[in-house]
Amino acid sequence: MLYNGWIMIEDPSQMQDLFFYITLFHRKCASTHNVIILMAHSAPMVVVYHPQYATHIQYRYHPESPFRMEYIIKKVTSLGLKQEIIEPEAASEGDILAVHRPTYLEKIRSSTMKYLDGETVIREDTYDVAMLAAGGAVTAVNETYLRNRPSFAIVRPPGHHAGPDYGGGFCYFNNSAIAARKALKMSSRVAIVDIDAHHGNGTQDIFYETSKVLYISTHQFGIYPGTGRYNEAGRGDGEGYNINIPLPARSGDSTYLYAFENLVMPVLKEFNPDAIIVSLGVDAHYRDDMSGLELSSTGYLELAALLQDFSEKYMKNRLVYVLEGGYNGVPLSEVVAGIIGRFEGKKVHLQYGDIRDESIKGKEYVDRSRNFFSQYWKL
Ligand SMILES: [Zn+2]
Repeated sequence: MLYNGWIMIEDPSQMQDLFFYITLFHRKCASTHNVIILMAHSAPMVVVYHPQYATHIQYRYHPESPFRMEYIIKKVTSLGLKQEIIEPEAASEGDILAVHRPTYLEKIRSSTMKYLDGETVIREDTYDVAMLAAGGAVTAVNETYLRNRPSFAIVRPPGHHAGPDYGGGFCYFNNSAIAARKALKMSSRVAIVDIDAHHGNGTQDIFYETSKVLYISTHQFGIYPGTGRYNEAGRGDGEGYNINIPLPARSGDSTYLYAFENLVMPVLKEFNPDAIIVSLGVDAHYRDDMSGLELSSTGYLELAALLQDFSEKYMKNRLVYVLEGGYNGVPLSEVVAGIIGRFEGKKVHLQYGDIRDESIKGKEYVDRSRNFFSQYWKL
C-alpha cells in the first residue's frame, strides 16, 4: 500500500481495512487530503494443471480428447501470467469416498476396457488420470482457502455426470463435487454454479438431500442426460437447494444474463456461501456442436464477471473454477484464458464474441424456474 494522497491495493479483501485507516487518518489530521483509491487489479487466479491431463484418450475421434488441453494451455501461457501453473497430486481415496461409493471407486480402479456408457471407456490409465483430475480440483480449493485467491482447475476428464455409484458422459469422478466436499471441511455453506450445456446429474444426485451445498445449473432442456427439470428441487433438508434452469435451444447471452440477474445472483446472495465452485463447460457456446445453446465468448465473460464481483465482495475471493465440457478448441481456450486474464486486468482478444441472442429467447423458461423457486427464496 502506498500513501501520498494515493492508495493502491492489490487485494480487494483489504478494502475494509483500508476504509478503517482512511477514517483514522481523517480524524488525526485537521486538513482534508484527497484520497483516491486505485484498484490495481483483482487477485490473480491460481491455475492448477497437470501435463497428464493431456494424455487420456477414450478412443479415436472422441470429442473429449487431449487437444482440449493443448488449446487451453497454449492460450493461457500466451497471457504471460504472473502466477506459475501449479501441478497437483492425485486425490486421496478419502477425497473420492467423500462423494463416491467404495464399490464404484474399486470399479474404476480395477477395470480396463469396460464401458460406463457408449462414450465413456475405462482404460488402463483412466484411474490414474481421473484421480489426478480430482486432485486438481482439491488443490484448487486448498489454494483458494489458503491464499484467498480465486483458482482454476484446468482438468480432464470432466466430472459432473458422475454420481455416487455411476459414471458416464465422459466422466468418472465428480471433480466439482469432490471440490465442494473439500471446501465444506473448512466452511459451512458452499454453492456450485454449473454452466455446462448439459445438466450435472451426478452433482445433483450427490447433494440432493443437503442444504449445505446449493446446486444451480443452467443447461439445455431435453439433451443428454435428460435430467434437470425445473421442479427437481431437492429432497428433505435439501429441498429448495437444487435449482435447475433448463433452457431451450438458441438461448444465448441475453437469456443467461437475465437468468443470472433475476435468479442465480439473488439466490447466491441470500444463501451467502463461503465459496463458489463453478462447473465451467464451454459447450453452451454457439461455436460448439455439442448443444444448441448460443452463448458467445463475451457472454461467458459477462457471467464470469458477475461471479468474480460477487466473490470479491462477499467471499474473500473464494471462487474455484473446475473445467467440465467444451469441445471446440478456439472458443474453449479463449473463454478459459479470458476468465483468467480478467483477474489480472488482461483483456484477451475474443474471436467468437458475436451476440446471437439479444431478445431473451429463453425468458419463459427462466421465469418458470424463477416462479417455482420463489417459494424457497426471496425472488
Ligand atoms: Zn457438457
